[in-house]
Amino acid sequence: MMAAAAADRNPACEVTLFEKNDHLGAKVIISGGGRCNVKEALKNYPRGAKFLMTAMFRFPPEKVMAWFEEHGVRLKTEKDLRVFPVSDDGKEIVSALEKDLRRKKVEILFNMAVTKIAKDSEKFKVTTKDGRTFTADAVILTTGGNAGYDFAQALGHTITPLGPSLNSLVVAEKWVETLAGVSFEKAKLRLGDYERLGAFVFTHRGVSGPSAFALSSYAAHETISEKTPLRLTIDFFPDEKFEAFQRRFLDLIQKNQQKNLANFLDIILPKSLCSVVPSLAKIDGSIKAGSLTKENRNVLAHLLKEFPMTVTGRSGGEEFVTAGGVYLSQINTNTMESKICPGLYFAGEIMDVDGFTGGFNLQASWATGALAGNSAA
Ligand SMILES: Cc1cc2nc3c(=O)[nH]c(=O)nc-3n(C[C@H](O)[C@H](O)[C@H](O)COP(=O)(O)OP(=O)(O)OC[C@H]3O[C@@H](n4cnc5c(N)ncnc54)[C@H](O)[C@@H]3O)c2cc1C
Repeated sequence: MMAAAAADRNPACEVTLFEKNDHLGAKVIISGGGRCNVKEALKNYPRGAKFLMTAMFRFPPEKVMAWFEEHGVRLKTEKDLRVFPVSDDGKEIVSALEKDLRRKKVEILFNMAVTKIAKDSEKFKVTTKDGRTFTADAVILTTGGNAGYDFAQALGHTITPLGPSLNSLVVAEKWVETLAGVSFEKAKLRLGDYERLGAFVFTHRGVSGPSAFALSSYAAHETISEKTPLRLTIDFFPDEKFEAFQRRFLDLIQKNQQKNLANFLDIILPKSLCSVVPSLAKIDGSIKAGSLTKENRNVLAHLLKEFPMTVTGRSGGEEFVTAGGVYLSQINTNTMESKICPGLYFAGEIMDVDGFTGGFNLQASWATGALAGNSAA
């Protein structure tokens, strides 16, 4: 949509948008929000940050916001810098784009799935499901994260391995369900070799929230299963080095010797964790804090800095994107044009670009779409 809207740079262009659904922007409608600061934004792409620089600086979040406001969508910025329509209705975003496309005389063809894209020496031939063939000087391929790879391959491109990203993590430990809903604003999560500081929440089956989504994104190409699990550890006190935390922990024990262990832990942990921690440490929760042995204290301190779980799978998140896509080395970062098939452009999730949750995927799509549309025109 943004690519077609940006093609008006050249008024002589005749632009046709092929959409297999009977409406535009199905995913945009269900998406949460966008993002508002470009420098911050670029840190949030585990794949493709460098590639995105030109597109993002030409059409940064501030300009994307201005574009939508100029097209009649009132926006609001949340405390965490995520941007939403005031109406909280993604349909408003899509209808602003659709109105703009109609004003610019873009021909929008609904229920028009493309089945083949071929190129002879000069022109592209785009074939649709109903057997019609359209001729074009340029094609912008923006089929999203789970379609269109065969078109790219047929035109000479290679696709990286594909993997799911932005999932919650499922763990083997059944006791996690007793922690469902317990959340932390700041903890350090480590999954295999990957690490992320931030908020997360325990779920009935594992962990979710921004840090868990980010880890799933880093690990998008890892095989995670019951047979090939990954170790997850959580540091509940990430602002303190182990030694500093241990000193504070011992000091607290000294001051609360008469409390039983579960009640003592309640001082520093959410209640639901106060029975899980002693049981993982194999220490009776009713024992007085003052009676803990040196070894007990050590085991407990280590547990709180490296709370262990076993990740055996992924489940749904708030967003879902595909990690992987058309190899970025085959696309010109300044124009989004293919280096292999001149006249073919890419934008959005079909490329090997993906971001963390919080608006980064839409922002990458707006920015690369605008650049591709401009360049193609
Ligand atoms: C549940 C959910 C929530 C999300 N929330 C957010 C969020 O809050 N913030 C954020 O930044 N990102 C979010 N995302 C991700 C974001 O929606 C996508 O990254 C973004 O929409 C990708 O844009 P795109 O244009 O590349 O592809 P898409 O939006 O997937 O668009 C591709 C279009 O191509 C059409 N198409 C595909 N194949 C063909 C064909 N053969 N012929 C014709 N048409 C075809 C499709 O029908 C579709 O309209 C979310 C995703 C999901 C699934």
